[in-house]
Amino acid sequence: MIIQLRRSPLIAAVIVAANLFAIGQSAKKSAIDERNVRAEMQFLAGDALQGRGSGTQFERIAAEYIGSQFMQSGLEPAGENGSDGRPTFVQTVTINRNSFAGNPSVKVGGSSFEHGKEMVVMRANSGAATGPLQKFAQGEKPKDGAAVFVRPKQEDDPRAVMQSLQSLLSSGASIVMVEETPQWRANWANLAGRRIGFTGGAAKPAIMVILSLETAAVVEKMENGTKVEFGGTLAPVQTSLTWNAIGKLPGSDKRLASEVVVLSSHLDHLGVRENNPGADKIFNGADDDASGSVAVMELARVLASGKRPMRTVYFVCFGSEEAGGYGSNYFADNLPFPKEKFVANLQFEMIGRPDAKVKPGELWLTGYERSNLGPELAKRGARLVQDPHPEENFFQRSDNYTLARRGIVAHTVSSFGLHTDYHRASDELKTIDFVHMTRSIDSMVKPVKWLLNSNFRPAWVPGKQP
Ligand SMILES: [Zn+2]
Repeated sequence: MIIQLRRSPLIAAVIVAANLFAIGQSAKKSAIDERNVRAEMQFLAGDALQGRGSGTQFERIAAEYIGSQFMQSGLEPAGENGSDGRPTFVQTVTINRNSFAGNPSVKVGGSSFEHGKEMVVMRANSGAATGPLQKFAQGEKPKDGAAVFVRPKQEDDPRAVMQSLQSLLSSGASIVMVEETPQWRANWANLAGRRIGFTGGAAKPAIMVILSLETAAVVEKMENGTKVEFGGTLAPVQTSLTWNAIGKLPGSDKRLASEVVVLSSHLDHLGVRENNPGADKIFNGADDDASGSVAVMELARVLASGKRPMRTVYFVCFGSEEAGGYGSNYFADNLPFPKEKFVANLQFEMIGRPDAKVKPGELWLTGYERSNLGPELAKRGARLVQDPHPEENFFQRSDNYTLARRGIVAHTVSSFGLHTDYHRASDELKTIDFVHMTRSIDSMVKPVKWLLNSNFRPAWVPGKQP
């Protein structure tokens, strides 16, 4: 242990004075007021909002609140018309949920396998799918619409297996059947007990099922090309609602005003869970994602005051991200402007606490290496770096991905250091580092202004577009 140095009172006084000077300086420079950040966080992440559960009335209140903040900042409403016929700052989204009345099944040749017995359905986006059996060999491409059968090595990392199954579906397979691994077997009862449902009408079926060892052995003996059918009786469609808060700042430049940048977050979280162990049942979601929503509100306040940016900005806080990205999917499918005018999207997620994996004051951008947007913003002063947790696949885990999958250059700004309060009731206001959060939002003001006042159009790095 090294010796602790003693300071003379005079030197200590000089140090204190120097620190005060530094604090005074940075407070003067900040475009973002910590008091606003605290005020908005307290409302969104306080117990009164009951964790803003996806699709609940509390989510709706969060959307109305954010909308009224947008209004106060001087944005134009971009939501639906209210009862007085005037446009509002809230967009109501209808979710149509389908579910199977009984257990769906997979039929291969003459054999039938039922969910919960011989197999379990991992995901289904459609009530029916069919395709010719393709017993998968390493390095092969799935045939379009095929029902691909995969036997992973028992020692393969389950996450890597899931990813490769996902990529089979995105490159053309309609059904993927995978032999169980010990991890899935250990979780079998849980998977078997799930009620299988899906929303909306998918363009193309994408079904993923796990076959028990015995079932996989049966399928292995079938000929390639054997007809595979997935399906079951559907229950009546159930509809529910979710809410986006949405406001717009029209661009000031004749030519550039038609181009749009979207700054976004998700306003929902996990709500109240009565079966949560311990006394606290409210999942406040202070970091996830009240913090990002406050960033969007504060950027709206700053950008709407003073000189108006040349490009148009949409500020959108999405509903039901936690339940499957329903708010952002609706937005992406019903863009309020031509898609070719969509320049970029920055989503703000979990910036309430610093990440020890990067330098103090730094934020990271998911998928930084996938486009030239992050590097270009960094050149303009953004303290943005590469995501230090690539194994977490954060690029795919927020609303930015909904847009990125449709070709839009879209990333998430974050400083989530994998803290253990993630998706727990303990993600609360008292864990928020307001100095870090205020500085983080402030650090994005100048670079975002630059983006809004330039004709730079970000592009994907070749081969890196999702
Ligand atoms: Zn979350």
